[in-house]
Amino acid sequence: MSDDIVSVPLPTSKRFVNLTGKTFERLEVVGFAGMKPVGHTGRQNGAFWICKCRCGSVVEIYSHALLNEINRSCGCLQKESSAELKKTHGESYSVEYDALHNIIQRCTNKNHPQYDGYGGRGITVCDRWVNSVLDFIADVGRRPSPLHSIDRFPDNNGNYEPGNVRWATGKQQTRNRRVTTTMTHLGKTQSFGDWSDETGIPISILYGRKENQWSDEKCLTTPYLPRKKPMVDHLPAT
Ligand SMILES: [Zn+2]
Repeated sequence: MSDDIVSVPLPTSKRFVNLTGKTFERLEVVGFAGMKPVGHTGRQNGAFWICKCRCGSVVEIYSHALLNEINRSCGCLQKESSAELKKTHGESYSVEYDALHNIIQRCTNKNHPQYDGYGGRGITVCDRWVNSVLDFIADVGRRPSPLHSIDRFPDNNGNYEPGNVRWATGKQQTRNRRVTTTMTHLGKTQSFGDWSDETGIPISILYGRKENQWSDEKCLTTPYLPRKKPMVDHLPAT
């Protein structure tokens, strides 16, 4: 409380509007502080009011600022809202925010060029992330390097939700993107497992070949030669 702000008698002019007792959001006008110079030149006088802010501070505010809602607190309101802004939007320029923004757009904005492959296929983003980039960062972490981008893993066809999203390099993403689950050869389409049984080529080898961009035919017709077991030295005869 400032005791140096002393109320002065109100001007007698009939056009003078008494604001005493009025409340402007957090400010309650408790007294008249007098006519004081305002404007650039300082040649004009304006009415100033002693206002008690809800936070306890006492300030002098110009009539014009009260009536036009320029000042609605002692300044505590702006401090709080800028802290609030930082809390919710302080990530506006981060790569993580951009990544999340893109995910949300792909899944929800029908005009997004990639919508058909995401939202159009029923892929969704969890509400937790839609509502908070900070929760997204808490769950997925910061991007480890510019080589990393967002990847759905382990379920590449799953939703954007905790447990199914990670930062991965392009290499990691291709390795795990087994969009192809079947191969076709001589008019027959079946799973990698079935082809493995049929050809005797281990399934891991088939996947490996596919990752190296081999054609289905080449994957299935190239003989697989298991590495020869290393020769075991004969034990000396006893
Ligand atoms: Zn205040």
